[in-house]
Amino acid sequence: MEGGIPTLEDLEQQLDGLAGERILVRTDFNVPLDGETITDDFRIRAALPTINWLTDRGAQVVTASHLGRPKGKPTPEFSMEPVRRRLAELAPGVELRENLRFDPAEEANDDAFVKQLIEGIDGYVNDAFGASHRAHASIVGPPRYLPSAMGRLLQREVEVLQSLRDNPKRPFVAVLGGAKVSDKLGVIEALLDTVDALVIGGAMCFTFFAADGRSIGDSLFEPDQTDTCKRLLASGKEIHLPSDIVGLDAAGNVATWGARVPDGGKGLDIGPGSAAEFADVITEARTVFWNGPMGKFEDERFAAGTRTIAEAVAATKAFTVVGGGDSAAALAEFGLDDDVDHVSTGGGASLELLELGDLPGLAALRQGRNTP
Ligand code: ADP
Ligand code: MG
Repeated sequence: MEGGIPTLEDLEQQLDGLAGERILVRTDFNVPLDGETITDDFRIRAALPTINWLTDRGAQVVTASHLGRPKGKPTPEFSMEPVRRRLAELAPGVELRENLRFDPAEEANDDAFVKQLIEGIDGYVNDAFGASHRAHASIVGPPRYLPSAMGRLLQREVEVLQSLRDNPKRPFVAVLGGAKVSDKLGVIEALLDTVDALVIGGAMCFTFFAADGRSIGDSLFEPDQTDTCKRLLASGKEIHLPSDIVGLDAAGNVATWGARVPDGGKGLDIGPGSAAEFADVITEARTVFWNGPMGKFEDERFAAGTRTIAEAVAATKAFTVVGGGDSAAALAEFGLDDDVDHVSTGGGASLELLELGDLPGLAALRQGRNTP
């Protein structure tokens, strides 16, 4: 048991050994695809410790996952077939069901669908951290009926993210970027209570700029979030905003400005001065959480800010956690993913766990059939 959630060992004990038992493992095999080619198999490899632990003990493992957004009907482009081929190479003999979201009952958390999922199954393991913030059938349903446990990946994610909430080494710095403030407002507010400093870059900094009365030109911003940003800026917390910005000017040329963007300009990255300042804040921290790129890093002209931050996060001796699909992709692109302590496999799930301290998938395991 860990935090009231059964572990694989608890499941083994409850089933009196795993030999011959059919175990349904809810995995997060929502991998990036280019046609039928998996461009990054990180999420498949991340499930192997759990799968191998089970098969080593003689269990018959049946995996199930969603892939993409097929909107409740069978869609060939979201078939699990490419994943099935890769899984057969990495873990021969392990079954993989068809995309859970081919049936609308998955997202509707339909009980008849849960019963169908667990037919002929003896135990359930949730190792799909990236989907555990959703109260979907395959996440919250099986623990009602079967002895259940969290897998190794889920366990590690929960340990790391809870430790950031509960007892981070200080100073604790959160670096937030990415496109939308509204997506991340909840976590920003929750983090303000626990972090020593907040560093804000990415497109979301322009809503803070606007709240601070600075001009932002045509940069992305969310007018309905300015009041909240004003309130956050007035909270007395240490909040670092960029002091320079790189973007495109009205003529379409790359330009660098101070902490405001002129008419017709569009901010697309933090400037070199800001990147150096942010890197200093990161270097002085003992715990760092990073979510969201500092700019439109997919365009090489606007990748420098994100690269500098990624390098600082990789180089520091602090405990470093990176969450978010695009931030993790940026880190991997710079070849730095092995240089941080933990790369979360779940963007939304990691933010929600930091914000609320719990997830529907975890609550379901805690209240499951085999928990006291
Ligand atoms: P994550 O997946 O790490 O949580 P988000 O999905 O919130 O990150 O944001 C990533 C996206 O934000 C990227 O596609 C990036 O291009 C975009 N972005 C970041 N800064 C800017 C900016 N200044 N202008 C436009 N897009 C930006
Ligand atoms: Mg993203």
